[in-house]
Amino acid sequence: MLGNAEDPRGRAKAGRRRAVARCLAAAGAAILPRPGRAAPPREGMVDVGPIEAAARRAGLVVHAGERLVLVTDRPPREGDGVPGLPGVFDEAFAAWCAHYGLADTAAHGWRACGMLMSDRDRFRAAGLLPADGSIPDFANGFCDRNRFWLDDQSNPAYRRHLLLHEGVHAFTFTLRRLAAPSWYTEGIAELLATHRLDEGRFVATPIPKRAGDVEQLGRIEVIRRLRAGAACPGLPEVFATPPSPRHDIPAYAASWAAVALLSLHPAHAPAFRALEAGPLDARLDERLAALAGWDAPRAERDFDAFTDEIDYGFDFARSAIDWSAGQPLAGRVRVAVAADRGWQSTGVACRRGEAVEFAAVGRAGVGRAGDTALESTAEGISLRWYRGRPVGRLLLAQWGAPAGGGRPRFGVLGEGSRGIVVAPDDGVLHAKLNAPPGSLPEHAGALELHLRPAVAGAR
Ligand SMILES: [Zn+2]
Repeated sequence: MLGNAEDPRGRAKAGRRRAVARCLAAAGAAILPRPGRAAPPREGMVDVGPIEAAARRAGLVVHAGERLVLVTDRPPREGDGVPGLPGVFDEAFAAWCAHYGLADTAAHGWRACGMLMSDRDRFRAAGLLPADGSIPDFANGFCDRNRFWLDDQSNPAYRRHLLLHEGVHAFTFTLRRLAAPSWYTEGIAELLATHRLDEGRFVATPIPKRAGDVEQLGRIEVIRRLRAGAACPGLPEVFATPPSPRHDIPAYAASWAAVALLSLHPAHAPAFRALEAGPLDARLDERLAALAGWDAPRAERDFDAFTDEIDYGFDFARSAIDWSAGQPLAGRVRVAVAADRGWQSTGVACRRGEAVEFAAVGRAGVGRAGDTALESTAEGISLRWYRGRPVGRLLLAQWGAPAGGGRPRFGVLGEGSRGIVVAPDDGVLHAKLNAPPGSLPEHAGALELHLRPAVAGAR
């Protein structure tokens, strides 16, 4: 009996095998030394005790916590944080239990073994990394049930991230019998692994607040690069992500973004929570489509809006978009544009070629510079810029396909305190004050935007 590949049990087991296979290729079985069993392993799990004993016999370093036995050949280095990794893992484990609503009793006795490798040959020689081809030649990390391997990383934050990413796989493969499509398997691992340390303690940050909290992770930068190159996938393409035997960073980033949207956006989170409470099997996409409250076209639009606006500190509640149809502009309309939110519907639906005159008045708070509160008119402030425009500047836009190709986005039609916009297509006018999404909690107040019909060409 060599593990998953030869396990005769039924569909659930086969499904789990597929899930492992999706995480970087075929699930293999290691030939592990079994010098004696201190305690029986949980059903469907690898017995960690013999691995730990073999590691010690081979002279490898073992750091043991409640939920993780970490084996490494990495020479001890002052301040590298490696001895503390099992403690961080234990804290993350509690957060994963909370995410899935798992009681402590359901996870009683659960333990994983992680192998942090500088030199894979030392693990092969110790019988801790199969050399018979049953484990693929993986990039960065690989998980089989509750044991996983990862290559050591020079950056402590990225090393922790990879460890926790594989740890989420170990958790979901065993405690949730996960056998789901690749986008969910990898997306949830990325989401639940993303964190910062606060005085050495794990703090989950599904959307990181600062780049410095997640050094080398780069998921947000990857999405922005894909967007800039008109190569960012839409949600249906993410759902169709094939399993990859290598660490495909763009696919991981897009899967993380999809699971982040579905977990955190107020319009989609309730359906997604219901989905995650059920089987995480190969039919996950069908189950999602069949859920009451699931709105696939809206989710697709919200995903495009997210990948277009994505940045550190992005907050789905502040940036949730009202996609309702709006009304034609018959006369003057006055709309408040809040400084602390993303794109907001003006409620005005334009026809293609229709011209609208706008004027914005008032001042709104756009953060602080030291002790000084910053206020902005619709022109924006010269002190801070974001995405090529002054912070606080009023932007008017319409949702649609960009001329240069790629996924739909808000195309800015007008900006500043006054002007005339001509709608390139049918659709609602949206407005916002230009700002990094992560700074919105510090912004306050609103500008008053006046809209009225104009004659095309009268500008
Ligand atoms: Zn993975």
